Amino acid sequence: MMKKIAILGSTGSIGTQTLEVVRRNPDLTVTALAAGSNVDHLETQIREFHPSLAAVWTEEKAKELKRRTRDLPVKIVTGMEGLLEVAQQLESEILVTAIVGMIGIRPTIAGMKAGKDIALANKETLVTAGHIIMPLAKEYGVRILPVDSEHSAIFQCLNGEDRGQLHKILLTASGGPFRGKKKEELREVRPEDALKHPNWSMGRKITIDSATLVNKGLEMMEARWLFGVEPDHIQIVVQPKSIVHSMVEFMDGAVIAQLGTPDMKLPIQYALYYPERRPLVGERLDFSRMTEIIFERPDPETFQGLRLAFDAAAGGGSLPTVYNAANERAVAWFLDHKIGFLDIPELIGRCMEAHKVIDHPSVEEILATEAETYERMEHMFLRDYGEK
Ligand code: NAD
Ligand code: MG
Repeated sequence: MMKKIAILGSTGSIGTQTLEVVRRNPDLTVTALAAGSNVDHLETQIREFHPSLAAVWTEEKAKELKRRTRDLPVKIVTGMEGLLEVAQQLESEILVTAIVGMIGIRPTIAGMKAGKDIALANKETLVTAGHIIMPLAKEYGVRILPVDSEHSAIFQCLNGEDRGQLHKILLTASGGPFRGKKKEELREVRPEDALKHPNWSMGRKITIDSATLVNKGLEMMEARWLFGVEPDHIQIVVQPKSIVHSMVEFMDGAVIAQLGTPDMKLPIQYALYYPERRPLVGERLDFSRMTEIIFERPDPETFQGLRLAFDAAAGGGSLPTVYNAANERAVAWFLDHKIGFLDIPELIGRCMEAHKVIDHPSVEEILATEAETYERMEHMFLRDYGEK
């Protein structure tokens, strides 16, 4: 049986690794692809995987892509309309959301309403709109299959178990490139330092998020929605080598973990074939050479971004959107050398304080909160950072 998949964000880190999984599995076919602006890369992907539909963000890029793919039977679309068309495309069965940011919310909802199972990498969508996404999945009878490695691990640990007997989630973190550092030592770090992740190779935004531990904060909120667990039943455990991908503890005290080498192709492939497992070429854990697995506690004093995530989850409503949007903007500025590393949690905290929480926000209210946060960030930047 052929499995037909559409990918939002095909040229990124998760997108290209998803296509690598497709390349190795002849029973997977690609029916639609969407990317932001890398027309070169998207053209190469179209020629190799033959989707009937492809989306790029701007009209200008779409024109260029149309010209380049004139000899192929592929329809080119653009903008949010284009993303929605890819998400709802009739042919596909699984929608892989490998796009970065809250731009994924509307296409994910459109995909679910069109009956697609969602292989979800785009954690920002669950963090900000989990209260809409999860009930919708139930209503439309579609599955949300986690691609994020930690959540795939938890999902695997819960296989065949009664979720009512789950006591807590032990969400593992590598600790990032600055593990063990104190706050003062991080004042002067540069994007180049923060982009050196010890174990994983990922997109730029999530790599910075791993250095601030905001990624773990987002993942805590992602786990909360995916598995229906309150934040105070999610414990962050640092495991520096990223071998234990996460664990669950049941009410009787039994702890089950999923281990493996740090390779996103495993969780991607697991999501695409769930509940089946398939062979996967690549490095494997070698217990004859491994001598120890170390666990540590995270340092919430140094990594304020993690503490703020628990505040955002506790505040609920539109607060996680503020946390996420402020972080997104701050990370972009940090990458542009406009603000320092410690300014990232500082700005997130200030935006959260200034925000008046909306309970159970609609998609429109979530997007309005995002816009409001961007505006507030802009204002704070001009006032406090413009001179630097
Ligand atoms: P990335 O930056 O490498 O790729 C992002 C993709 O989104 C690119 O293909 C880009 O073209 C596309 N995109 C951006 N804006 C777009 C737009 N307006 N229209 C259409 N496409 C657009 O990011 P990534 O690291 O692959 O991460 C993607 C998502 O997966 C994020 O939510 C991230 O948190 C999550 N995630 C990533 C990893 C990882 O290992 N990289 C692991 C777990 C979760
Ligand atoms: Mg992860």
